[in-house]
Amino acid sequence: METFNFNPGPTALPKEVLLRAQQELVNYQSTGLSILEMSHRSKAYQSIHENAQQSLRKFLNIPDTHEILFLQGGASLQFTMVPMNLLKENQTASYIVTGSWSQKAYKESMKIGKTEITASSEASGFTYIPGKSDWKALDKDISYLHVTSNNTIYGTQWQTFEELPDVPLVIDMSSDIGSRTVPWEKVALAYAGAQKNIGPAGATVVIIRKDVLAETNTQLPAMLDYKVHSNKNSLHNTPPTYSIYLLGLTIEWMIEQGGLTEFIHRSEQKASLLYNTIDESDGFYTGHAEKSSRSRMNITFNLPNSELSEAFLQGTEDEGFVGLSGHRSVGGCRASLYNGVGLASCERLVDYMEKFKKKHS
Ligand code: PMP
Repeated sequence: METFNFNPGPTALPKEVLLRAQQELVNYQSTGLSILEMSHRSKAYQSIHENAQQSLRKFLNIPDTHEILFLQGGASLQFTMVPMNLLKENQTASYIVTGSWSQKAYKESMKIGKTEITASSEASGFTYIPGKSDWKALDKDISYLHVTSNNTIYGTQWQTFEELPDVPLVIDMSSDIGSRTVPWEKVALAYAGAQKNIGPAGATVVIIRKDVLAETNTQLPAMLDYKVHSNKNSLHNTPPTYSIYLLGLTIEWMIEQGGLTEFIHRSEQKASLLYNTIDESDGFYTGHAEKSSRSRMNITFNLPNSELSEAFLQGTEDEGFVGLSGHRSVGGCRASLYNGVGLASCERLVDYMEKFKKKHS
């Protein structure tokens, strides 16, 4: 049966990418070796590594002021590495808490040094992104302000970064990297696990401004020190070679498809389809997020009661839809529309939603 993958991550990779990887799996470009068997110091791998970095730079328009690192440990390790490297003695790290992931990031930073919450939407069940009028004044001496650009679990998203003040910004872009533009001049550091929009699990991308990197803490264990990884071009130890290869293929595919502009357009198109279906359902489907904070990546919605929710989800399995249950902390349903998810899958889903509503309302 054909499947339509709406998993929150890891998730759908483009078929073309998987087929190319299949073709190259056993004998990579006539080297007689699979990438899985190759030394990370070999010429062939070095070129995969550098091409992946260059493609990512091109795709996301990352200027030379910023360096790209490929690390391991997921976005979760960045919750720890960011304050370890960037939070200075006698300074504060500020966090805007808009969901479980930013809360986790905040809690890790608390273990490292002085950390404060500048704003939080927890009291509302994380249904919105707090506007500037809801923020506490920032400490005079902050090392950085941390935001989570897209809240994977609750389905909210910073619509723009324009409101954010002129301080070193750290952005967790795990679930919307590659689907929006980034004002790099404002960004001290951005990080993302690759497994949603730009590749498979295993590689974590860290994009750090060079002047920020120059001033990071120098007293850290090597594996937790950005400078160590930077000095060795992310080859201090064995990198996740196959994940980086697949990340490179995925980015190349996205560039061929029309680049970032095209994926911004596609994500708007896909999200509109879903939100229109929710908004025109006469209250049968209700969105979790406030309209002004809606995510274009994770569409979270509920049905009138838990019996209908269960029947809806049961029915999706029969149709070949995968990954539509809401996160256990929110319940209901969630459709994740990352870059590997085609418009046709979304059309199938809204068709199912309409039929289900007709049958049950
Ligand atoms: N931040 C966000 C916004 C996420 O969605 C996730 C994972 N879903 C994480 C961080 C944690 O990522 P990882 O599993 O790569 O550690």
